Amino acid sequence: MTQLDYNRQILLRARPDGLAGPEHFEEFLTPVRPPGAGEALVESMYLSIDPAMRTWIAEKPGYVPAVSIGSVMRAGGVARVLQSKISGLEPGDLVQGRLGWQTLPTLPAIALQKLDLSLGTAEDWIGPLGTSALTAYFGMKSVGELQPGSTVLVSGAAGAVGQIASQIAKIMHCRVIGIAGGAAKCAFLRERIGLDHTIDYKASKDLISSIANVAKMGVDIYFDNVGGPTLEAALENMNHAGRVVLCGRISQTGSAAPYGIKNLGIAIGKRIKLQGFIVSDFHDQYPHARAWLAGEIKAGRLQQRLHLLDGLEKAPEGLRMLFTGDNFGKLAVKVSH
Ligand code: NAP
Repeated sequence: MTQLDYNRQILLRARPDGLAGPEHFEEFLTPVRPPGAGEALVESMYLSIDPAMRTWIAEKPGYVPAVSIGSVMRAGGVARVLQSKISGLEPGDLVQGRLGWQTLPTLPAIALQKLDLSLGTAEDWIGPLGTSALTAYFGMKSVGELQPGSTVLVSGAAGAVGQIASQIAKIMHCRVIGIAGGAAKCAFLRERIGLDHTIDYKASKDLISSIANVAKMGVDIYFDNVGGPTLEAALENMNHAGRVVLCGRISQTGSAAPYGIKNLGIAIGKRIKLQGFIVSDFHDQYPHARAWLAGEIKAGRLQQRLHLLDGLEKAPEGLRMLFTGDNFGKLAVKVSH
């Protein structure tokens, strides 16, 4: 059997209680299936690793059905077409889609979308043109109603969504404060991403004061990727009519003891809008957002640090890394070149 005869898959074996990791998954080999009508056989190049995956493998995942035990782990990614019975897709074309954690899937047309390589490279499509970048774009511009000159606070700022959200606010001439874990991530955000201030939440003894010390005029927009005590500290520093973009709550995802926010009353008195969203709410506007992001990449104003793990077998460990803060940038697995 050669490597092109079989499809390596990673299946969900058990639902985690706390952190997810390799012990909850199992590798499986299955023969490659030639495509039928309306299908293509693709070779996975990059598979995205996302915090939402932890919720997809929970018993009650929320806004999407749970991945069932024994199924291939759900994942988005970028792939190369090997054989195609889909009109408009030729061998050699690059696509993005719902690939799952597998090397050589055969997928229907609805799961695949041909990449426009005039916008960026395959790596750009997993990074600054990918779903986390779209999340940052719509979260900042549509939900946060970003205005030039605002003071913007971003948590999880060194991560996939946070890096892009922070840079969009800088491009829009805002004062941007990033919250991240550790001196190296904070230095990167100031020196490479150009943030005005950073806060290392792991070193801060009092996050409310740490924010107040650098946001002396208060915070107009808080882009929340982490929830919990960070959201509470941000609320204490919000300005009248400020916006809180509820993008994610990684500090609470899979947590056995959810943190209760105690100071929501501030939002009433200060007329603060707190709004959650899911990036797919804006699906019909993706082409417009990607054109904007591609323009900013080409102009040298937008970049994304990627954190690539080598080999499909690293995917489960990657999922754990998101929750321990061991990723530094947009995390993905490089499956083939
Ligand atoms: P990421 O930020 O690249 O990686 C996760 C980061 O979260 C880690 O590197 C770590 O950074 C931080 N973290 C982990 N545990 C934490 C804790 N207890 N307290 C504070 N920070 C913690 O991940 P991402 O893909 O960009 O996702 C960021 C957030 O956006 C997630 O909450 C995700 O669910 C959300 N999201 C939402 C949508 C949507 O449609 N609403 C779409 C995509 C993603 P530090 O080292 O700085 O701690």
